[in-house]
Amino acid sequence: MALLNIIETEKDVSKALRKKSRAVEEITPRIITLLDDMTETLKASGGVGLAAPQVGVLRRVVVVDDGEKVIELINPEIISAEGEEEDIEACLSIPGKWGLVKRPLTVTVRAKDRTGKDVTHTGTGLIARCFCHEIDHLNGVLYTDKATRMLKPEELEMKE
Ligand SMILES: [Zn+2]
Repeated sequence: MALLNIIETEKDVSKALRKKSRAVEEITPRIITLLDDMTETLKASGGVGLAAPQVGVLRRVVVVDDGEKVIELINPEIISAEGEEEDIEACLSIPGKWGLVKRPLTVTVRAKDRTGKDVTHTGTGLIARCFCHEIDHLNGVLYTDKATRMLKPEELEMKE
């Protein structure tokens, strides 16, 4: 496994973070390696989720750490969403910034796992938020596009 470089918006010369990623047609050894490397990179970063365009790979691949395990999502799609919650959001590609974003409270995602099997995952709160945030990355959308407002550092300290 290898640690991958996470692209930050200010250094994104190829605009990878603003492009739409392509679906994975076939789960090749390169896709398996990408999943392994993304998981290692996510764990090292301390983040909750990572999407392939954040490491410069324009494929529809996401990893989410739910606190117990890393969920691997290939070609993920939101198949149901319920409720709404506004909460603080951040992004590994936009370091040092936080914003308030409205997201569904509960989200169910359908995807393929690394064996090519169809799987569904339901997340609530932070995990639902993360599913939405990472799938947005696959469409070139950043949370700052959706934030009702960005937070000042002193507001963040008050929330903690
Ligand atoms: Zn992000």
